[in-house]
Amino acid sequence: MDLTLSSLPKIGPASIKKLANLNITTSLDLLYHLPFRYLDFSKITTIDNLSENDFVTIQGQIIDFQNIYTRFGKNLQKAIIKDKTGVITAIWFNSPFLSKSLTIGQTISLAGQVNLYQHKFSLFTPYIGNSTGKIIPIYHETKGLSSSWFRNIFSLNLLKLISSISDPLPVDIQKKYQLLSLPLALKNIHQPQNQSLLDQAINRLSLNEILSLQVTSKFIKEKQQASSVHRQLKSVKLPLNSLPFSLTNSQHQVISEVLSDLVKSSPANRLIQGDVGSGKTVVALAAAYFVQKNRQLSILMAPTDILANQHYLTAKKLFPKLKISLLTSSHQDQIPQTGLLISTHAVIYHQKKLPPVSLLIIDEQHKFGVLQRSFLNHQANPPHLLTMTATPIPRSIGLTVLKHLDLSYLDTIPQNRPIIKSFLVPPSKEKDCFQWLSNHLQTTKQQGFVVCPFIEESENLESVKAATTTYENLKIVLPDLKIALIHGKTKTEDRQKILADFAKNKINLLVTTPIIEVGIDYPNATVMIIQSADRFGLAQLHQLRGRVGRSQLQSYCYFFSATKNQPAINRLKYLINHHSGLEIATYDLQTRGPGEIFSLIQHGFPSLKLASINQTNLINQADQLINDISLSYPNYDFHQLTANSTQLDRISN
Ligand code: ADP
Ligand code: MG
Repeated sequence: MDLTLSSLPKIGPASIKKLANLNITTSLDLLYHLPFRYLDFSKITTIDNLSENDFVTIQGQIIDFQNIYTRFGKNLQKAIIKDKTGVITAIWFNSPFLSKSLTIGQTISLAGQVNLYQHKFSLFTPYIGNSTGKIIPIYHETKGLSSSWFRNIFSLNLLKLISSISDPLPVDIQKKYQLLSLPLALKNIHQPQNQSLLDQAINRLSLNEILSLQVTSKFIKEKQQASSVHRQLKSVKLPLNSLPFSLTNSQHQVISEVLSDLVKSSPANRLIQGDVGSGKTVVALAAAYFVQKNRQLSILMAPTDILANQHYLTAKKLFPKLKISLLTSSHQDQIPQTGLLISTHAVIYHQKKLPPVSLLIIDEQHKFGVLQRSFLNHQANPPHLLTMTATPIPRSIGLTVLKHLDLSYLDTIPQNRPIIKSFLVPPSKEKDCFQWLSNHLQTTKQQGFVVCPFIEESENLESVKAATTTYENLKIVLPDLKIALIHGKTKTEDRQKILADFAKNKINLLVTTPIIEVGIDYPNATVMIIQSADRFGLAQLHQLRGRVGRSQLQSYCYFFSATKNQPAINRLKYLINHHSGLEIATYDLQTRGPGEIFSLIQHGFPSLKLASINQTNLINQADQLINDISLSYPNYDFHQLTANSTQLDRISN
């Protein structure tokens, strides 16, 4: 589209600046700034036919208008409207300018939601004129650019913007799948003619998003298959029988999947999903050992220093012959030529010094931002990529949208560990809970965690207890326990000392922030208390809970919450009764949308605005459609299916 934003009427330099706040820099971005919800005022109703909470448009004559100043310096506008069936009051706030446009005797239409006010139906801040009698879109806004600004801009420019759009799908395919054409879909998404056309528009544009995901995934896969690794590895035998435990069947299975990747000449891209405690680390280490036996280098990246240190210790224990180096913000071994380098993202700043890397393993990959996207890009050959996460992707999604990723599932937990007994604790029971904790830890010699959401007490979040305050209080309330505190601001040496003491059971109770969320592994820790649990996401709570229950000992998790919000309580209750990460993620997907799963999907992927990753029907339809096109149009250029979505230009690899 060669229209520039500045060539559009009503868009001047000031608006262009503000649009940039919404990442809108081209007219195509503008066109794809899609509404995120709608208000349906298409129902035109007579005043005697209103019911409370209805969204309606009424039409009538203004029989009274007043501009009222209250004692508190506030200002409101009150109009009485009459049609042939009755009268209704409309009220606006701080809109004195209305007295210029609304005059007694004038006929107007108003749209809004019907409220009961002083026992009578009324409309608060109703829309006037243009926005009435139809479905109106609501947009993400920024300071100075309201939804009504966008509606106005589109009423002036939409046709022009759309005129340069052509539909990349062949007409017979559109027909076969009963799709609205792309221009018509874009028209109706911004200015819906009626609900049915709006539904069709949403369907068409959602399908486009899924198509671009699938096509992108396909391109990435092709690119992967066309490139080759720096050294093709040879099959070697691993000493898996001398590990301190026997591997589960799924660990055996996943290790063999990984090893069969490693002997190929094209780079692997495999995601290992396994619930907290399913034993992903040993799989990663086995792969690294395989690489070392081929006299090549692996890197294992962890999101925190704590976790990198822990992997270092685990690796020494499980594979004593593995040559391991550590590179974190506080500890920097020399960069090795072969073996395993365990690191945080600190390694990114040393990447120019690295020899060719054969295998890159990213643990808890959802914790990494886009940082590593270009990591190792400068090397002549890409490494095999192995990512690991405890945030599961339902299989159906994985197999259809993420074709470029090979998925492995660790779906058994070692040794039939007992389920973590979980409880929701209201403020009135907190004291008892801590008393129980104190007795329990003293009699069993087991250990516990108390997790607080933030480090500092925050005035506007009253129920949030700061870790420091909690720590100070607990020292007084539970004098028989040895209690320690770590949080994000604790100095690294102090933190390491505390964790080492914790590992030696010199500390009974560790008060901390969610920095312990990922990965840490202390089998003797059996009690987890999470304060203000309603402030965390479910996946995160599940991860936190997973810090206990890591041995055959019975473990306990207490979710403290003062919330009265029923949906929040329901979510916590769900967690109490469910222990499978996959189930919890699926529930989260249904109740809160696909945010967490989506952040897991490879970086550089187009984001979904309308479609949702759990729309299996749509995903299957897109799959079929791509097949149909490939069969009927052998020369079809699939890049077209990525071209209309602006985000897609940004996909480089
Ligand atoms: P996660 O998948 O959460 O990263 P870890 O790899 O940290 O899990 O493993 C959790 C704990 O289970 C560790 O203490 C690990 O040594 C232990 N573990 C892993 N596999 C087995 C197994 N097959 N049998 C017994 N314990 C195991
Ligand atoms: Mg782990």
